[in-house]
Amino acid sequence: MNVVFVCPECGQRAVATSVEQGEAFPCSQCGSQLAVPTAAIVPGEADGPPRLTRCLVCPSTELFVRKNFPQRLGVGIVVAGLGLSCVSWAYHEMLITFAILFSTALLDVMLFFLVPECLTCYRCGARYTGPGITERFGGFNLETHEKYRQQAARRGQSSAAASGE
Ligand SMILES: [Zn+2]
Ligand SMILES: [Zn+2]
Repeated sequence: MNVVFVCPECGQRAVATSVEQGEAFPCSQCGSQLAVPTAAIVPGEADGPPRLTRCLVCPSTELFVRKNFPQRLGVGIVVAGLGLSCVSWAYHEMLITFAILFSTALLDVMLFFLVPECLTCYRCGARYTGPGITERFGGFNLETHEKYRQQAARRGQSSAAASGE
């Protein structure tokens, strides 16, 4: 099981691999050890892969399944396709224009089906990947997302008030 997270110690984006194998895992940026909370990782049924019950980085137990697809890559492909098709359009190459638009759309769809799913924490955005990891959890829920977004906004407000701003 691998995790991409924002380290609570150094605030940088870090990765950790095989986090299910120990009681703690190190931040790849600053090296500080993050303890795995008790019962956060439970053994899978019938020799299956271990399961995650909560986020390892923050206290949240709510996680959602999504495609581990870098959104910027998807958008980049579409933009590149549009740019190229504008060039061929300017040269009145209709067939090439449509071929470019069609193939970039197809490429996006193919990538979407090829990339694996990952588990994302609503609260801190940590992303977990690994075999069988998504089994216990459902897809994105806007209500849950909204709840955490508002909590985060309130935390921001109260810390601003505490610092006298
Ligand atoms: Zn760190
Ligand atoms: Zn979290």
